[in-house]
Amino acid sequence: MGVSGVGKSTIGKLLAQDLNIPFFDGDDFHPESNITKMSSGQPLNDDDRQPWLETLNALAKKELIKNSCIIVCSALKQKYRDIVSKEIESKTKWVHLSGSYEQICERMNSRTKHFMPSELLQSQFDILENPTEALQIDVSKTPQNIIRTIKHELMDASEFGVFGLGVMGKSLCRNLANNGFKISMFNRHVEGLEEDIATNFKTQFKELSQAAAFDDIAAFVNSLQQPKKIMLMVNAGKAIDDVIEDLLPYLSESDILIDCGNSNYKKTKERYEYLKTKNIHLVGAGVSGGEEGALKGPSIMPSGAKEAYKKVKLYLEAISAKDKDNLPCCTYIGPDGSGHFIKMVHNGIEYVEMQLLAEVSTILEALGQNPSEIADTLESWKGQASSYLLDITTSIFRKKEGNDWLVNKVLDKAGNKGTGNWTAIASAELGVPSTLIASALFTRYMSFYKEERLQLNKSFKKGSYVKFKITFNELFEAYQFARIINHYQGFKLITEASKSYAWNLNLSEIARIWTSGCIIKSKLMKDLVEIFKNTSNLLTHKKIIETLNQYKSSTKTVVLQSILNDVSIPALSEAIQFFNGITTAYSSANIIQAQRDYFGAHTYQRLDDNSGKNYHTNWK
Ligand code: NDP
Repeated sequence: MGVSGVGKSTIGKLLAQDLNIPFFDGDDFHPESNITKMSSGQPLNDDDRQPWLETLNALAKKELIKNSCIIVCSALKQKYRDIVSKEIESKTKWVHLSGSYEQICERMNSRTKHFMPSELLQSQFDILENPTEALQIDVSKTPQNIIRTIKHELMDASEFGVFGLGVMGKSLCRNLANNGFKISMFNRHVEGLEEDIATNFKTQFKELSQAAAFDDIAAFVNSLQQPKKIMLMVNAGKAIDDVIEDLLPYLSESDILIDCGNSNYKKTKERYEYLKTKNIHLVGAGVSGGEEGALKGPSIMPSGAKEAYKKVKLYLEAISAKDKDNLPCCTYIGPDGSGHFIKMVHNGIEYVEMQLLAEVSTILEALGQNPSEIADTLESWKGQASSYLLDITTSIFRKKEGNDWLVNKVLDKAGNKGTGNWTAIASAELGVPSTLIASALFTRYMSFYKEERLQLNKSFKKGSYVKFKITFNELFEAYQFARIINHYQGFKLITEASKSYAWNLNLSEIARIWTSGCIIKSKLMKDLVEIFKNTSNLLTHKKIIETLNQYKSSTKTVVLQSILNDVSIPALSEAIQFFNGITTAYSSANIIQAQRDYFGAHTYQRLDDNSGKNYHTNWK
């Protein structure tokens, strides 16, 4: 692209010859009316250009099916380029041939066959919007030099960079390489500790033979095509800020950083704003699936400026898991930190799903089952309640070490990396009752009080007060009941955040990208994709109402029996408590309001006055 007379056709033809791909001169695709208009000295308006640009877009799409091609056209405004690259944004590489007005005017005047009079050149300079996403080429260089530069930038340079080769970074690099992308990989050099990480990693896997390995930031960044696209796969928190500062001196306008770590969504918004002041894009992308998911296809939740996302969409969608219709489990979530928010809620839901499986397994143990039998019971639920977490829990209960089950030897202190904590905080800040997430989180925290638990266990003996009587079917129904409440709460939190932050999130689409590749993929999640097409409130859906009504009695039995037998089941019991609360027409909150008014004159509203008027009473 570039103004008329800049030498686009000459360079384009030479490049096409060199690369052995078809060449098209955009001017050949102008409708007759445009040619007549230009020949008579009139400039084209945007309406004139629209069909022409659409034709070029169709041409590019057609050629991309076969291989690739070179198209030259002026494409001076961003909106023109948007039309030409529509739906093929990531596959389109813009090269801007640029020179001064005088330089090009001279060239124009020396040409005879061109149908555009050189007087119109100024109007082209006037409307030229500098394409920051394009490779900038100074036309004063020789054609051979220009071809060499373009080829180096577009062919030799890597299209995508990965910064941080820890557990996730390594798997994502292999995934990108397996998808045919030319990547650059970076890991820092720390004398005596972290040396030659990238080069050693490259030699371990044959799919990385084309990848470039670095431990020098400048070389890494310079190895990338413009605009540079760098995935950050480092620990969340300060490391991200440090890495951004380390990279900034080497970045230029319109480069894109993609933070794929578990960053806090508020920090992502701050970083997004900060980088915006430097004209650098930040795509905050939640990634779920663990090490294996990252390698074979994770669920990816990207957010930020949509224009920036479009430029990395090709890569993220290619490496993501695919749903039942083979659609990528990666979708643009929304503005600023919404992708990391969604990932955070994903983890909150995950905490509860894990806790529920831990509780039902504890109940099965209390009912007398050994780990292999627990695995059998869980496996029998697969038909109706299949999920990744059910699968792995089944496998865990089967794993033996010697004659004993390994699970029995694992210290009962549950760790966490903070996303459950953030989900609970976000719920509290947004005023959303995510009671199950809080319950699962605090249960993990409680597990850490091991010494105190051991001591208190001696003081407060546990016993059974009735025969522990629960059928497997009742337990299954209670488990499913609690899972529905968990998903209700998780998606409620998303709904409320979407309203508060004006993110306009699509619940069905979020559920869809969680049907494959991620830790909370399940049959229930697949059902939610359809349910959320019709309602944003799970508890108003006919099928869900029927199921909860059907399973409620079993849930009560399971909770009651567990309490009577001193079995700790915080999430299962919270599920029924929450359900009773959210389905209560006249709750005990009237008493709270009266108490608040009594001691603090906080006032209250009355059921018999709809005006919203606040009353205060002297209650003594
Ligand atoms: P690792 O600890 O395995 O790797 C962290 C990487 O970050 C390492 O390459 C490390 O380099 C690099 N790093 C840390 N600090 C700096 C710094 N200041 N400058 C340069 N490099 C730095 O973490 P994971 O790969 O497991 O996780 C990465 C991110 O992905 C985290 O945010 C995590 O929460 C998230 N995540 C992890 C999942 C998992 O299952 N593991 C799943 C989904 C998301 P070095 O080796 O030199 O220390």
